[in-house]
Amino acid sequence: MKQTAEPLDILQQYWGHPAFRPLQEDIIRSVLDGRDTLALLPTGGGKSVCYQVPALCREGLCIVVSPLIALMKDQVQNLQSRGIAAAAIFSGMSRRAIDIVFENASNGAYKLLYLSPERLKTELAIARIQRMQVNLLAVDEAHCVSQWGYDFRPSYLQIADLRELLPAVPLLALTATATRDVVEDIQEKLLFRKKNVLRQSFVRPNLSYSVLYEAKKREKLLDILRNVPGTGIVYVRSRGEAKEVAQFLSANKLSAGFYHAGLSPEDRNTRQEAWMAGETRVIVCTNAFGMGIDKPDVRVVVHLHLPDSLEAYFQEAGRGGRDGRKSYATLLYTPADADGLRFHLQAAYPAFEQVRQVYQALGSYTQLAVGAGLGESFDFDLPFFCTTYKLDTAPTHAALRLLEQEGWIALSDALATPARAWVKATREVLYDYQIRNKQADTVLKVLLRAYPGIHADFTDISEANIANYAKMDAAAVQKTLENAQKEGILIYEPRSEKPQIIFTRERVTAENLTIDQAKFHFRKQRAEERVEQAIQYAETRRCRSRQLLAYFGEPDSEPCGICDVCTGRNKSDLPAEIFESMEKKIRDVLRDEPLPFDEILRAFALKRHETVAQVIAYLLDEGKLLKDETDKLYVKK
Ligand code: ADP
Repeated sequence: MKQTAEPLDILQQYWGHPAFRPLQEDIIRSVLDGRDTLALLPTGGGKSVCYQVPALCREGLCIVVSPLIALMKDQVQNLQSRGIAAAAIFSGMSRRAIDIVFENASNGAYKLLYLSPERLKTELAIARIQRMQVNLLAVDEAHCVSQWGYDFRPSYLQIADLRELLPAVPLLALTATATRDVVEDIQEKLLFRKKNVLRQSFVRPNLSYSVLYEAKKREKLLDILRNVPGTGIVYVRSRGEAKEVAQFLSANKLSAGFYHAGLSPEDRNTRQEAWMAGETRVIVCTNAFGMGIDKPDVRVVVHLHLPDSLEAYFQEAGRGGRDGRKSYATLLYTPADADGLRFHLQAAYPAFEQVRQVYQALGSYTQLAVGAGLGESFDFDLPFFCTTYKLDTAPTHAALRLLEQEGWIALSDALATPARAWVKATREVLYDYQIRNKQADTVLKVLLRAYPGIHADFTDISEANIANYAKMDAAAVQKTLENAQKEGILIYEPRSEKPQIIFTRERVTAENLTIDQAKFHFRKQRAEERVEQAIQYAETRRCRSRQLLAYFGEPDSEPCGICDVCTGRNKSDLPAEIFESMEKKIRDVLRDEPLPFDEILRAFALKRHETVAQVIAYLLDEGKLLKDETDKLYVKK
């Protein structure tokens, strides 16, 4: 497709950035040359520009596959605010709304069209995409296509079909997290015509990683937050814990809020905004927090527990220090964390009988007949579902994930879709309707005044706000809008608070439900390996940065010089001065000849023995001390 502008001009014109970041330009060049490209950039590295700029350099539009509805919406808003035409299609939208966006896209109304992956397969999508002038296919979070990765989503495999539909269109896959295997697998699954990986090093030179063995985690957390001024994120494991820890910090006079996926969308928004604006200093959260958040001055990220993969840890910890200033990523660890992770992993891979039971319940819940349901979506309230069918939440959730991975259903992310409306009637028709209908008159007046763009396109609205202005209750507003829709005045999609479940295959009887056992075991085994690697990270005293980089396929990095290991802090977090003076004395003791462990200890006061033993263990780990064949210790020359 014809190139109509230069990338740098586009970047300056629409984004106001003076120059590309390292690698962005190479990626864009590669794409514009028509090559399939896999780009690995760390979080915050500026991935979106890599497909948005080439989309604007050419005629036609770029289709972006992205897994998270909330992120998609942010991106669309962000683009629109820069004067770039963009739209998104995701589950939860009405068929009508989807139809309109597709129609507009075929007519060349957008430069970027975001699609959630489970929307790819529908006939409507296939028919419409064929009519579009597509200049690029971008796949965000591309690791989701790999069963080897930590966030496999089967709907991503359908991207391959899309490629067949658009044989001449280059593909740009983007991810911030992929081990070597996953890098290979992504290119294979996305049908790369030729292998082509552009990778930016994942080194974070200003981020100091530490792992501290701590039984009293909350006290230690206080200590850290008192010593490191500035904004912080604290990751915890559960919603309840998020609240408790935030309260604990507040009780200790630290400004803290909490965040998790169980809060209402308004609540989440308010809390996130308060933290972004610096009104709340510390946000205590589950892993639901952070995607798409771009706050450069986070000084410290503390994990109260070890996450179940280094992918997750690296991404979460990596939210610190985006501005390039010194920042800290600290993991508070006890061996009990390892037990907990191993235990949870078993629960995450439930027995087949349990999966069948959940599937059966799902059939009753949705009241779908056997053989029906393909492509249909339903509001889904997990707690309600579990209560109704007397199921335990955690294994049920695991069973649903498994059903998703096996391609039976798809789960939308839990984020709510706000209500939207589009006033389609001409002014005359509208006026006439308002005269005939008193209540509608009030609501429509508020609607038109509060949302000036609502004549032109779908606009997010809030029934509660309208109700407030119109001095009526929200249910009445909803009713009025529904009536107006029936009269053809507007298109109205009420808010859907609940996450959705989509049947990606028609319903079958529980006996006919099948699961690919080999794949199941394969994924379980990979998950076990990831957990073991995470534990190994916490328990191995080697430069943290080097461990992480090696995991992500950079085996030859330099010691970072700033992690707990490099700076010689040990398990009990000895102050550097004490550690260094002990190390010096141990070296002195061993200057003339190798000595057994006990004899080294004897050179120190009894009360120091424990610490000395720790320092020796550390020096052994680091290879600074060695053992001879009789187990005597000597200093490495
Ligand atoms: P990622 O998706 O890799 O996490 P984003 O695409 O959200 O990152 O970009 C992160 C931030 O970097 C954004 O605020 C973006 O505007 C900014 N950014 C991207 N490219 C550049 C650039 N060339 N110059 C300056 N800032 C940039």
